[in-house]
Amino acid sequence: MIINLPENVAYIINTLEEAGFEAYAVGGCVRDVILGRTPNDWDITTSATPNETKALFKKTFDTGIQHGTVSVLLGKEIYEVTTYRIDGKYEDSRHPKEVTFTVNLEDDLLRRDFTINAMAYNPSSGLVDIYGGLEDIKRKTIRCVGNAEERFSEDALRILRAIRFAAQLGYEIDKETEEAIKKLAPTLSKISAERIQVELVKTMLSANPAILKKAYELGVTKVFFKEFDCMMETGQNNPHHMYTVGEHTLKVCENIPAERKLRLAALFHDVAKPVAKTTDEDGVDHFNNHPKIGAQMAKDILRRLKFDNDTINAVAKLVEFHDYRPEVTKRAVRRFINKMGEEYFPDIFTLQRADLSGQSPYQMEEKLERLGKIEKIYGEILKDNECVSLKTLAVKGKDLIDAGVKPGPDLGVILSKMLEDVLDNPQNNTKEYLLEHFVEKN
Ligand code: ATP
Ligand code: MG
Repeated sequence: MIINLPENVAYIINTLEEAGFEAYAVGGCVRDVILGRTPNDWDITTSATPNETKALFKKTFDTGIQHGTVSVLLGKEIYEVTTYRIDGKYEDSRHPKEVTFTVNLEDDLLRRDFTINAMAYNPSSGLVDIYGGLEDIKRKTIRCVGNAEERFSEDALRILRAIRFAAQLGYEIDKETEEAIKKLAPTLSKISAERIQVELVKTMLSANPAILKKAYELGVTKVFFKEFDCMMETGQNNPHHMYTVGEHTLKVCENIPAERKLRLAALFHDVAKPVAKTTDEDGVDHFNNHPKIGAQMAKDILRRLKFDNDTINAVAKLVEFHDYRPEVTKRAVRRFINKMGEEYFPDIFTLQRADLSGQSPYQMEEKLERLGKIEKIYGEILKDNECVSLKTLAVKGKDLIDAGVKPGPDLGVILSKMLEDVLDNPQNNTKEYLLEHFVEKN
């Protein structure tokens, strides 16, 4: 097998080899090239010690020198060059206690998580694939290098990485690896929320977010997202639905574009259904107020997983309004936009449409037609440049002061009244009209 290395990568490998060391492109980049994907970054592994590497390149810095990693700067690009290493015993399923440098590539490949991530390549030796990575790519399998239980005991994050790679690549998880995940899933509790978040997001943004069902079955979601387990276990006996809350949620995730906020909103939109559920005397399930309760739950869960405030607020807003259906009039849609906030449009429609895709056929045509009409009205409001917030109100605070209103809380009160009027009567959004009708003359 011949792999076309980027010029800089070939240069680094060549420089190290000419100085008498071994060097290879390794890990994710080799996997991605074989898969015909563009690697995120190119990592290099070498028999040279960090100091030996540093001596060979003009610009380097110590990124993780205690773990053997030196960053080499070529032009504007950064390449991580890491000394062959054996990871010592892991503490708390988290960190290797110490790393030992080695001169055997084989040992370095052995410390890596999955066979598909444990291949190395350089032009002189070709592909080095000691643990059957290529075979597993052919079989579309995620398999641990060596003993799966040992590997997950060393670093429990690998459990989530296995699921994430399976989702991204559309692969199955090997039987033994899967058994080990099931057994060791509880040890994920030792992994930081930040690291869990990274893997969860990558999984949700993949082509197969519904793999979360597998994660549920293996006892993985229970550890950091038990609310999802409740969703999987909550039936929906009413005409609008034909799946459990969890199955429905995964359908919605699959049918919404792979954007961070949208996928997360899809994941959380019905998170409160298990707690909001009531069953009436005819045995029909109701989920009153679940969007509102769900918005708060989404906030709590996302905060727990250490998401940023911008993401938390946007997702909570989308959850809160996912079921909101204004009257099919321009006036009602303007009020909807004003109430929710312009920045969430048209995302909210994208979520509502995806939500419908996971429901039963009952009244589906009507539901889709109605949503289509609302979207069309939204488009008209945009096209007609109608005011839906203070941002585009024809009068600003300063105009009120110029008209003789005393600075202070009165300004806000008057502006709100003006906006109220304009939401119902867009043609009134002119300075003349508003000042004339809302500012008392002395
Ligand atoms: P991507 O960059 O697409 O997320 P990747 O496989 O490149 O995937 P990185 O986190 O960039 O993943 O790590 C690079 C390589 O380092 C991996 O391919 C793997 O060989 C090794 N590696 C990373 N994390 C671990 C881990 N937790 N346990 C064992 N090996 C790991
Ligand atoms: Mg990578």
